[in-house]
Amino acid sequence: MTTLLGVDLRGRRVLVAGGGPVAALKARGLAADGALVDVVSPVVCESLRDLIDEARVHWHPREVLPTDGDDAWLVIAATGDREVDTALCERATAHRVFSVCAGASEHGTARNPAVTEHAGVIVGVVSAARPDPGRVVRVRDALADHLASGGVDLRTRRRSHGAGRVVLVGGGPGAEDLITVRGRLALAQADVVVTDRLGPVGLLRELPASVEVIDVGKRPDHHPVPQPEINRILVEHAHRGRTVVRLKGGDPFVYGRGGEEVLSCAEAGVPVEVIPGVSSAMSAPLLAGIPLSHRGTVGSVLVTHGHELPPRELLDAVARERASLVILMGVALLAGHVNALLQAGADPALPIAIVERASLPDQRVTRRTLASIDDVHEEVAAPAVIVVGRVADPSLLAPQHVAGADLDAPESA
Ligand code: SAH
Repeated sequence: MTTLLGVDLRGRRVLVAGGGPVAALKARGLAADGALVDVVSPVVCESLRDLIDEARVHWHPREVLPTDGDDAWLVIAATGDREVDTALCERATAHRVFSVCAGASEHGTARNPAVTEHAGVIVGVVSAARPDPGRVVRVRDALADHLASGGVDLRTRRRSHGAGRVVLVGGGPGAEDLITVRGRLALAQADVVVTDRLGPVGLLRELPASVEVIDVGKRPDHHPVPQPEINRILVEHAHRGRTVVRLKGGDPFVYGRGGEEVLSCAEAGVPVEVIPGVSSAMSAPLLAGIPLSHRGTVGSVLVTHGHELPPRELLDAVARERASLVILMGVALLAGHVNALLQAGADPALPIAIVERASLPDQRVTRRTLASIDDVHEEVAAPAVIVVGRVADPSLLAPQHVAGADLDAPESA
């Protein structure tokens, strides 16, 4: 039976006897944990050499002496010579110093666990009896996957006043598995989630009942919470010592007002972290089969918002097919954009695609040309991403590119 103990080796001396890859691996981990590592070996391998050059460990280029570990807190015996390792460990034990015997663990009094760290929690795995490194690593990896899945409640139970923080999480376009692993982990640590209507809101159902969910999203039947009020909510909960996740659709900094929220937190002295997300600007086209930068088509992509028409020079670039155009929040002004492009001289046969509710089960893709888009204005609804340009030609990714394919044929996702 082994007792797992989380020891603090910061600033404490550890002897690593040996100069090979095993010694290097242990020395690297110990140095990273802040231990004062003395490596004793006549020769060292390349990766130990790197640690020495970076002054992260101290090297004594000589044979190890039995007494070398006497004033250490921990001895790592990894010389590759079983007898030397055993003798070092026996002496360490006589001096009540814990030791890890790399070659024959039965001689040491400690074992290095396989570890994984998530959200300030370290999980270590060791074999209870005979060492079995392969199995230990498999178990560690499985635990790491489980923690990273976001299915584990990682909220801190001990809150201290003023220790709160805000994490802006880009949730991706909406499918629950298009959030990043980092974003999902942040959600698992949230005491409060301030959410939009867009993004992977389905994940909120999986949160423990005690997580407070505040919906500030826009909806046709309900007014959005004004931005200053959202900023105030974030700061107020963080000041109460809570971990606040601001869950957003797509990426927080792509038309997400994430910058304003960062500023408000900074002004209030609240630590804030921003986790990128898969923006609908890039992913909605992809999910509709539109390759935004396809070889042989135009090389630039303009992303704009649809609340107003883009400046003349951008319209010209799209009309002259120097750039493809991606419009977010553009449904209401769709006709205005199309007219402006036609007026700027765009080919009426230029393809246009409208991707509604990308990545969700009811995703719908409508493809037309600038000339034939008129009939769909009434039908399409937000949230939708509009793509204008040759990249939206439906035959582009067909096995055989057929020039002039029938763009006006109806299609659903
Ligand atoms: N930060 C977000 C954009 C927020 S603005 C991002 O990076 O994706 C809101 C607009 O994003 C919507 O009006 C729509 O144009 C677009 N959008 C967001 N999610 C979408 C989805 N699943 N399908 C289509 N468009 C989406």
